[in-house]
Amino acid sequence: MTTKAKVATVWLDGCSGCHMSFLDMDERLVGLADKIELVYSPLVDNKVFPDDVDVTLVEGAVSSEDDLAKIRKVRAHTKVLVSLGDCAVTGNVPAMRNHFDTIDVTNRAYFENAALQQQLPCEVVPKLLDRVRPVHEVVKVDVHIPGCPPPADVIHFAVAEMLEGRLPDLTGKTRFGM
Ligand code: SF4
Repeated sequence: MTTKAKVATVWLDGCSGCHMSFLDMDERLVGLADKIELVYSPLVDNKVFPDDVDVTLVEGAVSSEDDLAKIRKVRAHTKVLVSLGDCAVTGNVPAMRNHFDTIDVTNRAYFENAALQQQLPCEVVPKLLDRVRPVHEVVKVDVHIPGCPPPADVIHFAVAEMLEGRLPDLTGKTRFGM
């Protein structure tokens, strides 16, 4: 029996669109299931990131202290780390708040736009970082897959290449935005 590659997906500050594109691989997911074990993901019920993951796909930018702690842990336990989508690659939509002071942003969300219970959250909601940052600014990234979201065909190509032990050459296959 061949050993399956351990694959994880992580959701930081993103809209889940990149995970939707991952699922858009449709029936090709069945083919991948013969070769990979999805060991951690919003799509499965494992709450603890494993110690030894072969490939991790990261959706979203690093926006909060929780995001920062999570991506550092993920990096420490992943052989090939992939920034999946423009938010992970450049900061994209979440980084739009970098034009404003963090206090102003939280006031806007929890006071000015709140009809009820105007208060800053002190539990559960993680503290925002001063700046939203793309993943490669805080940890080493091995593969960047641009796109908002990257097309399912491109994700499939990239995963298939990595399962063969190659870093994918995505030249001409995807672009920022879409
Ligand atoms: S890159 Fe686009 S689709 Fe992916 S999380 Fe960001 S906004 Fe959503």
